[in-house]
Amino acid sequence: MIKVEDKVRNPWQHALQQLDEIAERINLEPWIHKKLRHPRRELTVSIPVRMDSEEVEVFTGYRVQHSITPGPAKGGVRYHPDVTLDEIRALAMWMTWKCAVVGLPYGGAKGGVVCDPAKLSQAELERLTRRYTSEILIMIGPERDIPAPDINTNSQVMAWIMDTYSVDRGYSVPGVVTGKPVVLGGSLGREGATGRGVVFTLLNTLKYLNQSIEGKQVVLQGFGKVGSVVAHLLYKEGAKIIAISEVDGGIYNPKGLDPEKVMAHKKEVGSVVGYRDAEFITNEELFRLKCDILIPAATENQITEENASHIKANLIVEAANGPTTPLADKILKEKGIFGVPDILANAGGVTVSYFEWVQGMQGYFWSEREIKPLLG
Ligand code: NAD
Repeated sequence: MIKVEDKVRNPWQHALQQLDEIAERINLEPWIHKKLRHPRRELTVSIPVRMDSEEVEVFTGYRVQHSITPGPAKGGVRYHPDVTLDEIRALAMWMTWKCAVVGLPYGGAKGGVVCDPAKLSQAELERLTRRYTSEILIMIGPERDIPAPDINTNSQVMAWIMDTYSVDRGYSVPGVVTGKPVVLGGSLGREGATGRGVVFTLLNTLKYLNQSIEGKQVVLQGFGKVGSVVAHLLYKEGAKIIAISEVDGGIYNPKGLDPEKVMAHKKEVGSVVGYRDAEFITNEELFRLKCDILIPAATENQITEENASHIKANLIVEAANGPTTPLADKILKEKGIFGVPDILANAGGVTVSYFEWVQGMQGYFWSEREIKPLLG
């Protein structure tokens, strides 16, 4: 029977359902289970921003700390029109699990602002980020909660958060964010770390399955900070990337796509769509393609009870957070598709974020040669 939670596609209900199932499977003590069902702290803020037109718009932002038991809370900041408190709660809880899986001394957190950055000028984005930071200042800090990039945020946004926090303290505090520019104390190797971690996990999964990456047909949803790095690295390893999609649609070429050329096209027009050596496909069509490996690297709720039965991949590696609903998970399992969950597959980002935080706290910065093997 389909549970209500699956139909409503609420990531928080999905996360709770996953927690309940695992708690039962591992005989989790009831008081711990009960505690983990509730985020430790949540903050909803109004963010008034003077727009370039001189009008004032008020945006809504969130910061949720799911757990601060293992150490400071850690998690990205997302700018997207569809951000909701329930989405941020789910992402914060998944961060707690992710940090536990890779043994980092952090609890989980997440933040977000309901906005469409594509419609904001750089100056508006800066004012929004600085005001959001001022509003969540009471929660964040190097020993309390450390934001990082997520969907539609980047090293520039982290630099604004760090600067706003530092101005408030009266001195520079690099440890308050990770994923910042290297000149401000960011870590070498952080930028591609999530994608590199996805590929590292994928190659090890293939090794476990006694298979090689050479010639494997890969379908990829999302060509942003994570997806584009995954595509580049897999291409270098000898995989054949046959399809890539973004929010406005995708491209397909059974002979394979060259990610570097696709990126050059994206830089020119803002999307992979329209790339000359491929045909257009929709996101729904992408999930129906026959392939060896499917990598969702976009957003939540992409693989659902509606499209899971059409998936023809042998292996799914979750680069995005929460791309598969719990009911879709069951369908994929019944179909015998091997899955690598998000909390393992995309943990490379938070792992190198941890290295960045340690370097910032020590004021002692490592070379890329030192960092890359540590990610493995
Ligand atoms: P990004 O903003 O750089 O890129 C997002 C990509 O997804 C873009 O190509 C966009 O067009 C596409 N997309 C968005 N909505 C879509 C939709 N409805 N259908 C199809 N495509 C869509 O974001 P990112 O940092 O690459 O993050 C991607 C995923 O990876 C997210 O789930 C994020 O939480 C997760 N993640 C990111 C990091 C990180 O370090 N950036 C770390 C761990 C997990």
